[in-house]
Amino acid sequence: MSLDSPRTASRPERLTVHEARLRLEHERAARLTQLRALDEAGPDAEEQVMSAQKDTIGRVLKEIDAAFDRVTDGSYGVCRGCERPIPVERLEILPYTRFCVPCQRHA
Ligand SMILES: [Zn+2]
Repeated sequence: MSLDSPRTASRPERLTVHEARLRLEHERAARLTQLRALDEAGPDAEEQVMSAQKDTIGRVLKEIDAAFDRVTDGSYGVCRGCERPIPVERLEILPYTRFCVPCQRHA
């Protein structure tokens, strides 16, 4: 997985819109790949496990779509709880998150 993002010594405070979109695209592609893999798992796969996994992936895909909307309207990367910027390190791991770590714990 290479995202073509050059490593710079000084890290920016916020992801650029371009970076945010790249990361979200990447997450979405990964989830769609997982869904396809589940569909191709065939008759050996356990129905219940599969549908639970599909539900989870479906929820994440909705979160990703919502994050794309926030990139568009400019509210991306701002915590819904405390309204402070979500640290870039967190967005790199979880680009579709709506909360910073402390607020996520309370959510
Ligand atoms: Zn917060």
